[in-house]
Amino acid sequence: MKKLYNLPAKILSTYGGHGIVDAVLMPNTIDEFVTAMTTERGLFVLGGGSNTIIPDGKNNLKILSTKLLDEVVFDKDEVRVQCGAKLPRLIKECSLRGLGGLGFLAGVPASVGGATRMNAGAFGREFGDYISKMTVLSADCVVKDIYPPYNFSYRQGVDDIVIEVTLRLQSSTREQCERECQIHQNMRRAKQPKGRSIGSTFKNTGLGAGYYIDSLGLKGLTIGGAQISTKHANFILNLGDGSAQDFLSLVEVAKTGVREEFGVELQEEFIFLGEQ
Ligand SMILES: Cc1cc2nc3c(=O)[nH]c(=O)nc-3n(C[C@H](O)[C@H](O)[C@H](O)COP(=O)(O)OP(=O)(O)OC[C@H]3O[C@@H](n4cnc5c(N)ncnc54)[C@H](O)[C@@H]3O)c2cc1C
Repeated sequence: MKKLYNLPAKILSTYGGHGIVDAVLMPNTIDEFVTAMTTERGLFVLGGGSNTIIPDGKNNLKILSTKLLDEVVFDKDEVRVQCGAKLPRLIKECSLRGLGGLGFLAGVPASVGGATRMNAGAFGREFGDYISKMTVLSADCVVKDIYPPYNFSYRQGVDDIVIEVTLRLQSSTREQCERECQIHQNMRRAKQPKGRSIGSTFKNTGLGAGYYIDSLGLKGLTIGGAQISTKHANFILNLGDGSAQDFLSLVEVAKTGVREEFGVELQEEFIFLGEQ
């Protein structure tokens, strides 16, 4: 097990920030992962960090990073993939073998574990629809296999710790898979900003979180080093030196404004590892 100390948020979270995390454990094997999760207290499991905001300053957080658990094994139209494997690599490897289906998530910097926990989705499709088996560590510390149907919903996947998943994909050609990825990436680029963020800040509701925030004229609002994107109001960008507090202040402005103007309560899509 690799152990690292005093790691900056900018290498753990795609938003970045000013946090310094006390300890990060990185298991090399599933056995080490399960042992750590069953014996150590207060570990937060981190995948790609693409939906996680880390509190500013030096903190006492203990993170277990799944980064090194990234085995990907193909068997006909199925792929068994460990929780720490990143979606961009997985999707690329699937495309090379002519296995399609996941192209709607091209460009999402998530890990497989995070995508399963959050039931990552886009363009009307969800990651959970492709899972034919999950191996999880349950709250009562039992490793078990779970099969569909799953009780997933919008941005709500499994509650257990994900060890690995098997995905059933669609037999296709490499060219078609690459085209599927390209089309979805082009649609993303047309609508979403470049730069450091955690993707959508709020879950979509009613007319869309971005619509409400935009209607208040909040696009471009900047606090410290964070900004509500001028391109898509549901994205908050780190302009370079943005802190978690800058991010949370913008969240508060947007939530309060939307509540007062539209009577709509926006729900955070991201995970904040501190106290609000
Ligand atoms: C540029 C950009 C675009 C994005 N586009 C989309 C999009 O189109 N659709 C979408 O749904 N999201 C999108 N996101 C948000 C994000 O990628 C997803 O929420 C993703 O599912 C998070 O995965 P992660 O591995 O980075 O999770 P992390 O941020 O590491 O963790 C998120 C949550 O998952 C849990 N988790 C991580 N690994 C495991 C595991 N092995 N077992 C159990 N729980 C685990 C964490 O404890 C935490 O609760 C985007 C983000 C960015 C930066």
